[in-house]
Amino acid sequence: MNTERNEAPAASNFIRNIIDDDNRTGKWGQRVETRFPPEPNGYLHIGHAKSICLNFGIASSYGGVCHLRFDDTNPEKESVEYVDSIIDAVTWLGFEWTKDEKEQLYYASDYYDKLYAFAELLIERGKAYVDSQSAEEMRANRGSATEPGTPSPFRERTTQENLDLFRRMKAGEFKEGEHVLRAKIDMASPNFNMRDPVIYRIRFAHHYRTGDTWCVYPMYDYTHCISDALENITHSLCTLEFEDHRPLYDWILNELADAGVFTRPLPQQIEFSRLNLTYAITSKRKLLQLVTEGHVEGWDDPRMPTIVGVRRRGFTPGAIKLFCERIGITKVDSWIDMSVFEGALRDDLDDKAPRTAAVLDPLKLIIDNFPEGTTEACSAPVHPHHPEMGTRTFPISRELWIERDDFVETPPKGYFRLFPGNRVRLRYGYVVECTGAEKDADGNIIAVHCNYFPDSKSGTEGANTYKVKGNIHWVSAAHALPAEVRIYDRLFREPQPDAGGRDFLEALNPDSKRVVNAYLEPGLENVQPEQRFQFERHGYFVADRYDSKPEKPVFNRIVTLRDSWGKPA
Ligand code: ATP
Ligand code: MG
Repeated sequence: MNTERNEAPAASNFIRNIIDDDNRTGKWGQRVETRFPPEPNGYLHIGHAKSICLNFGIASSYGGVCHLRFDDTNPEKESVEYVDSIIDAVTWLGFEWTKDEKEQLYYASDYYDKLYAFAELLIERGKAYVDSQSAEEMRANRGSATEPGTPSPFRERTTQENLDLFRRMKAGEFKEGEHVLRAKIDMASPNFNMRDPVIYRIRFAHHYRTGDTWCVYPMYDYTHCISDALENITHSLCTLEFEDHRPLYDWILNELADAGVFTRPLPQQIEFSRLNLTYAITSKRKLLQLVTEGHVEGWDDPRMPTIVGVRRRGFTPGAIKLFCERIGITKVDSWIDMSVFEGALRDDLDDKAPRTAAVLDPLKLIIDNFPEGTTEACSAPVHPHHPEMGTRTFPISRELWIERDDFVETPPKGYFRLFPGNRVRLRYGYVVECTGAEKDADGNIIAVHCNYFPDSKSGTEGANTYKVKGNIHWVSAAHALPAEVRIYDRLFREPQPDAGGRDFLEALNPDSKRVVNAYLEPGLENVQPEQRFQFERHGYFVADRYDSKPEKPVFNRIVTLRDSWGKPA
């Protein structure tokens, strides 16, 4: 778990200002209690990470606690699989919902009895009624932005009639859609959410937790504010699209406070802007579509912007938190460039990732004057800026693997690597001079030849007498560790794949995954899943969480060393 990032002083933002004010006036004493309320109908994505970092981050920095609450009121779409994946994701990010030995883990479905009882209470107080219009009639009577809605002919039912119908709805006497329960607010309100919103509907659906106990289910807006109040949430942070729902949030809680159910102060809803990340999609529905239609290999495909996806890709919790800190919290909707996310990742990994050599597009280099059948040890720092991380040693021998593009027959201007007659340094090894290349019958280069200078070894005095411009990495062919390396790139070719409602599938990047057979520095033997490295000159790589075996490593490219997206190679 990465805790360093949590200790950095949090940047001020408008939400912290509100909390500071509340603490000054003593509105909640000094209590700060937030919640992260996902619906278990999909895997969490990077947008949720923003909300998680905000809710858990704020609570912990004020000495409070953040509840994890499953907002599970849509039986059709929810499942235990999603619950488990959400618990796993929040835990991996390094957050906890237990404080002072009290586990603050909740399910809205645990409140069904209370929610139902409160609905009866609202009916008794003349604040809710059973409407028997069809869905079309309700829509038609909703009014428009300029026209008030038309009250339902059932709006003035007596309390007794409403109670009777609502109880029979619960008892399963009616079909889906035959009746709904609506809050009795104001059909002429300029805010549609206040035009007698539906708070209960009939659904004969099996719920993953309550089974077939219920055939009436509470609506999100009704459930959410009550769940907050039941859990004594102080600040209920949500995304901007709920701004227009706030009057309803307040109305329901105030009505229940008037009825003596809750005491004031009541939880306060505060909205912030959601994360929109370029070259990614943050809609659960569309992410589900990518999975079910097979455009990716699952929710945890390393190209997915899901938390399981970025985890498998090799992103660290520290990088995600750093990213969330950098983008901050505002009320202005905007797009954050993917390079900001990748930049946070590089900054996090650069300092920690051990360095190693890996040849991803292998070409043989033969050192003709290197004594056959012998090896020699070379050494290099594990991390150039952290001597305490030690050194690594690896053998050099007569035949090496180098990158195919580190050799050309006819060099373009400014090319300092291998070409006939040129000298380069084999990184942490010797200086060699290229003598030519071997080709197969079709003219493909199959091996490059060179001679080395035995007094030029890195780290020896002689090394300094050789001035060369090129410095290439290599691994000894006889000792190298073969590995599968998956070169991932962005999943979409365009910054806003679903902008303007167009088909985001058309923006899929056909080259977002490439698999190569690579050769790694022999020290990578026994690499454990999720270990991360910098492959020198290439970027950051992680041993795949599921597929990598110590005896047969599989690596994923996390990110390149520099931001080269869109620039010619
Ligand atoms: P859907 O995509 O199905 O509309 P959702 O993404 O809003 O759902 P929820 O499970 O309701 O999913 O989200 C849980 C919490 O995460 C909510 O408080 C929501 O506001 C927040 N959240 C969701 N997407 C983002 C985002 N892109 N940026 C910041 N917060 C988000
Ligand atoms: Mg939602």
